[in-house]
Amino acid sequence: MMQTVLVAGGGGFIGSHLCGALVADGYRVMAVDNFITGNKKNIEPLLNNKQFVLIEDDIINENSRLRQGFGGQAKLNYIFHLASPASPNKKSPRSYISHPIETMLANSLGTKNLLDLAGEHGAAFLYASSSEVYGDPLVSPQNEDYFGNVNSIGPRSVYDEGKRFSEAMTMAYSRTHNVNVRIVRIFNTYGPKMAADDGRVVSNFITQALENKPITIYGSGSQTRSFCYIDDMVDGLIKAMFSDKSRGEVINLGNPQELPIIELAKLIKKLTNSQSELIHGELPQDDPQKRKPDITRAKRLLSFLPKVPIEEGLAKTIQYFKESSL
Ligand code: UDP
Repeated sequence: MMQTVLVAGGGGFIGSHLCGALVADGYRVMAVDNFITGNKKNIEPLLNNKQFVLIEDDIINENSRLRQGFGGQAKLNYIFHLASPASPNKKSPRSYISHPIETMLANSLGTKNLLDLAGEHGAAFLYASSSEVYGDPLVSPQNEDYFGNVNSIGPRSVYDEGKRFSEAMTMAYSRTHNVNVRIVRIFNTYGPKMAADDGRVVSNFITQALENKPITIYGSGSQTRSFCYIDDMVDGLIKAMFSDKSRGEVINLGNPQELPIIELAKLIKKLTNSQSELIHGELPQDDPQKRKPDITRAKRLLSFLPKVPIEEGLAKTIQYFKESSL
């Protein structure tokens, strides 16, 4: 019998790659998305596949087709919750700053609805949390035992506190209702299908470099991030869901190779042969100074090890942006 996987946020950057990988692995995949930040184009190649179903709905809606059991058709075996705006860039129409209430609801009521669904179906549940639960961290690298340094009322708080609330909710369902849960904390991830207007650093720098427009470094560029290529992230998500060892655990997923933002700008300029100048703008409020995952736990429990070097991943991403601008 074919197993059925629900991917909430299946129209998003990470969600759509995950849907493709699950279909290829032989699962029946139901994607749910309200497309406030996702993009139907991401899953277009899957729409004619018999193993794939798209449900256009909102996980916060108590009467959604999910809650009605899709007309009683499907028994769910696995539920991934990746449904949330994820970009912090206030200028982007896709960011969580542009959708503050929706972000908080997707990561509270939405999480509760999906956990209830997991309980009803006896499905395994994975919550996609974020390195943002560590806020502007006072330790580096960050391991899962670090409690974080988050401003609960700043502009990023809708996302950070939403993720923290959902982690607490997920553990509450595990303890109270014995739902089979795991939490992964996703660090910066990049690759093809990132939205050009998402406002994230990799998509901004590549589109600017390809158009020979100034590359906008916020602040001095000394702040660091650690970038994971999408294929490595999907591998980690699948391992975390389908491994017995992840039950009840919280696990960082990301690539520990750390890079100052100014170095990323120079690398993208080089890889695109761009004439762009590097300019400096205002650093957004509460922008973390450092971010680097400690992935010891993911290695130990899941044998997770990111493989794609940054130059190779960026080259593939640049190729995607070149092709999609034709
Ligand atoms: N950033 C930048 N220029 C841009 C977009 C982002 O210098 O055009 C910086 C941003 O201030 C942050 C880092 O790049 O320090 C990563 O930003 P992103 O929005 O990709 O995600 P974050 O890691 O902050 O969630």
